[in-house]
Amino acid sequence: MEVLCNRLDRGFQLYQQEFEKKAIDVLRSGWYILGQELASFEQEYAQYIGSSFCVGVASGLDALRIAIYLLGIQAGDEVIVQANTYIASVMGITLNNATPVFVEPDIYNNIDVTQIEKAVSSKTKAIMVVHLYGQAADMDAVMQIAQSHNLKVIEDCAQAHGAEWNGKKVGTFGDIGCFSFYPTKNMGAFGDAGAIVTNNEEYAKTAKIYRNYGSEKRYYNKMVGLNSRMDEIQAGMLRVRLQHINELIEERKKIAEKYIEGLKDTKLELPMVKKGATSVWHQFVVKVYQREAFMDFLANSGIQTLIHYPIPPHLSKAYQYLKIHKGMLPVTESYARKVVSLPMYNGMHEEEISYVIEKILSYGNIIT
Ligand SMILES: *Cc1c(COP(=O)(O)O)cnc(C)c1O
Repeated sequence: MEVLCNRLDRGFQLYQQEFEKKAIDVLRSGWYILGQELASFEQEYAQYIGSSFCVGVASGLDALRIAIYLLGIQAGDEVIVQANTYIASVMGITLNNATPVFVEPDIYNNIDVTQIEKAVSSKTKAIMVVHLYGQAADMDAVMQIAQSHNLKVIEDCAQAHGAEWNGKKVGTFGDIGCFSFYPTKNMGAFGDAGAIVTNNEEYAKTAKIYRNYGSEKRYYNKMVGLNSRMDEIQAGMLRVRLQHINELIEERKKIAEKYIEGLKDTKLELPMVKKGATSVWHQFVVKVYQREAFMDFLANSGIQTLIHYPIPPHLSKAYQYLKIHKGMLPVTESYARKVVSLPMYNGMHEEEISYVIEKILSYGNIIT
């Protein structure tokens, strides 16, 4: 059997007729950018998340860079962010010429809230929380620290559509929530797309202007902006996906439960969910020493695994200039050596899940 780490075709097949019908409707409409599909998606997504406003943009990275821009964060300002994130979180900060200040993760792979305060300086303007692998971070702790130091909060929800902290969806705690709808995300488009959500009307208004060359009225440009618009066809596809979001989350949860039950007696370090949090299981990430051997064994059994992420942002060439050297963020660096993502996707077959479990159980060399 062959089991890939992700299968976008399966996610498509689940609602194939609805996607195809919507695609044809949009193609025939004669209107392809900034139209009714986007307006409807923005309204429906804001309602789903529980925010007053949603503004669709071209990608998750754009959502982050626009959020930082809206908060007035610029050169000389510092933004606290967890060190084990996908590099886009950090680029959202540095594209605005601000400086990322890294904080180590906790055992749930989210920002270690006990380490945030140490990272606050007189230049700190905001905390960027990343709900990594689909699990909500401890937003009570983050908001308390932010309030006591008068900091803004940006939530990177690119991996956590619908995840909750104490019954409230991520993206609604901070000043601005940022989403990616890249095809591999839990709520994927069929191309690039992203969005910000906020309760602040000014931010939402400015974001709509900023995403469209700084223009509200055609040919009247108030400011220098971006071209960061969500296509009508992607908005239409996302409206279809949104109608099924609860089923999609439930299905991933069931896969995660099967993995946890099936692998509980192995020496693999399994993912844990913090009390108060839910995970929407964007990735099912285990930790293992001698990762290469483990991954090779699975690959030889036809099972693809991936690493999210092998090089932490501070050790990438792009951020050499920050001069944060190897050894300075030991928890993050050890996670980068140990993490492996098992296959996890909507439309995964029962036999595929069992096969992955069976093969891992047959591998006797797990060392922790
Ligand atoms: C995917 C992702 C992004 C970037 O989203 P794009 O749509 O690919 O630009 C940002 N942050 C995190 C945590 C992500 O996983």
